[in-house]
Amino acid sequence: MSSLRFKVVEEAFNRKAVPVELPAERPDAYFGRAVFNRKKMYEYLPKDTYEALITAIEDKKPISRSLADSVAEGMKRWAVDNGARHYTHWFHPLTDGTAEKHDAFVMPDGKGGVVEEFSGKLLVQQEPDASSFPNGGIRNTFEARGYSAWDISSPAFILDGTLCIPTIFISYTGESLDYKTPLLRSLNAIDHAATAVAKLFDPEVKHVKNYLGWEQEYFLVDEALYAARPDLVLTGRTLMGHESAKNQQLEDHYFGAIPSRVEAFMLDLEHEAHKLGIPVKTRHNEVAPNQFELAPIFEETNLANDHNLLIMTLMAEVARRHNFHVLLHEKPFSGINGSGKHNNWSLGTDKGDMLFSPGKTPQENLRFLTFTVNVMAAVHRHNALLKASIMSATNAHRLGANEAPPAIISIFLGKQLSHVLEQIENMTPEELAVLASKAEKSIGLVQIPELMLDNTDRNRTSPFAFTGNRFEFRAVGSSANCAGALIALNAAVADQLDSFHKNVLEHIAEGMSTQDSILAELRKLVKESKAIHFDGNGYSDEWKEEAERRGLDCETSAPRIFDAYLAPESVKMFGRTGVFSPVELAARNEVKWEMYTKKVQIEARVLGDLAINHIVPVATRYQSMLVDNVVKLKALFPGEKGEKVVAHDLDTIERMSEHMEAIKAETDRMIEARKEANRITSEREKAIAYHDNVVPPMEEIRYHIDKLELMVDNRMWPLPKYRELLFIR
Ligand code: ADP
Ligand code: MG
Repeated sequence: MSSLRFKVVEEAFNRKAVPVELPAERPDAYFGRAVFNRKKMYEYLPKDTYEALITAIEDKKPISRSLADSVAEGMKRWAVDNGARHYTHWFHPLTDGTAEKHDAFVMPDGKGGVVEEFSGKLLVQQEPDASSFPNGGIRNTFEARGYSAWDISSPAFILDGTLCIPTIFISYTGESLDYKTPLLRSLNAIDHAATAVAKLFDPEVKHVKNYLGWEQEYFLVDEALYAARPDLVLTGRTLMGHESAKNQQLEDHYFGAIPSRVEAFMLDLEHEAHKLGIPVKTRHNEVAPNQFELAPIFEETNLANDHNLLIMTLMAEVARRHNFHVLLHEKPFSGINGSGKHNNWSLGTDKGDMLFSPGKTPQENLRFLTFTVNVMAAVHRHNALLKASIMSATNAHRLGANEAPPAIISIFLGKQLSHVLEQIENMTPEELAVLASKAEKSIGLVQIPELMLDNTDRNRTSPFAFTGNRFEFRAVGSSANCAGALIALNAAVADQLDSFHKNVLEHIAEGMSTQDSILAELRKLVKESKAIHFDGNGYSDEWKEEAERRGLDCETSAPRIFDAYLAPESVKMFGRTGVFSPVELAARNEVKWEMYTKKVQIEARVLGDLAINHIVPVATRYQSMLVDNVVKLKALFPGEKGEKVVAHDLDTIERMSEHMEAIKAETDRMIEARKEANRITSEREKAIAYHDNVVPPMEEIRYHIDKLELMVDNRMWPLPKYRELLFIR
């Protein structure tokens, strides 16, 4: 009998909410308390230091060594005043999450005592012993020097008594080894390109800012149940488990009240987030049982992304205090919704105008159309790349399943915007010119009804949707670093805006009016990129066929999807925008393939172990009990009657044998496929071998285990079942 499972189920079931004591002060008193923000800078830095630093941040200029020394001194005093004893360069490696290397402020003084030390040099640059971070071969291990350098545009913060200094992580030869470096490059590229285009409408625009509002989905599982599932512990998802009789059919979780234990967790998490200056705002249940969502108010992209990475760390920590484990995996449970991280993305000028918002004047509306159509064109041209940007071994489970964005990128625009684009497309140049001249009087094409802001026909099946004043990139995975998606998106849009700008200037040089030039280019782009626009049901099979006909990228195998990064048009685009060099692209793809292989490899090992050492022995024991029963029944009822009463058991015994045989055979096949794949030296070919030859037997093994789960005595089943993992809290 499986006493462990019953014990943990009972433990989880009886658990009470952990009370959360919030400080008596109002949130605005503690919001940002753990952040070295401008207020703290002003308080702790000499006046000239403060001013020089702010200027450097705003002008995106490097800071001098003497300025760094002065900043370091003030930053350290603030950190120590607030209980920090260590500091770390906090960076975003190419693995999941963040990395840190802690050093104490206190150093031995050589005379038996200690001194506190934290110089400008230590603030600005560090040489972390980080040779083990994936680098795709850019640094070989004996030349394993990379260094981290302070990103002055992200504020430092204190987490668990450690001053964390947000940094970029690069090799000695300048190649990026992280997510932050290319993200910052892509933000510069789009600032530059979008500002040039925005100036066509308003010459006073100096900068275009990039905004991100993420929505983080996650599951919570009681920690006792979690600990009893080796697959969850080691891979972040369940590798087996028959569907629960009830799952999300009734959609009662979405509308239901937040359970009290979860409510306490959320309250605690929000408080911690607010102290770190993360403007967390909404929280609610999601569609699947035990699935939830958290979203902040949007911020500038670099900061918003730091905050998202920070919140993923915080969630894990705070969950432990509430005896939960948080699952950030994209598909922890099969058969019910997976988790994504919608990236609400937009552009705005330094004057405060949002570029994806239709305005009140024809000029503003033409600007809105310009930016929107250019996004459409960029997403069309680079749809394969954008898919690669969100793809991973874990997100692959979510894409293409019936409740998530399919593995095809398309854009949803909504009725009104679609109608406007149709008008642009179908008019002759003469008609367009007439219309444009009438635009002064606020009629026709460039006058888009304000009503569009209330974009109610929102299509939940689209991976990339226009939602009123922004685009929502929904295909991003819940465990991903948002930067992966946003680097590709920003670079693609920047490149598109650059070419648009160049073409418009050419028309103008030929004597066309600015407005006509813009309209002519828009018309061309709308025609060219029509294929990406799809407002229908993205989950339908017809769409898959239709997308194929339209020439959109329909590849579903993750390791092959990564090829899009190395396609000539991607390499050129990243080169023109200065976001990635060819060397970086090649190295990063090596890392992607390697990560894919490793994740599948770990899952395959865990599954093999569970199948052979946990499931088959239990099934055998139960089967042998049935065999005993058959023998006894036959002794009790000789002859025909006996045959009849054992028929049912015999049938079960036989079917169980079939499933167990299949499990063993498929496990052998899986192990053999792994051995073969491991001999391959090319990372790409190896990942493909894992995808093509290791994953299919894994799916077979799971199928047969899930069948056995329905046959074996419930009391003997060793692993917590779906109904327990999903409904107990
Ligand atoms: P929904 O679940 O309906 O998509 P939410 O309110 O949960 O909406 O999340 C919307 C997210 O989009 C929030 O983070 C919000 O701050 C963000 N957002 C709203 N407007 C913009 C914008 N112009 N640019 C970027 N993000 C935005
Ligand atoms: Mg959303």
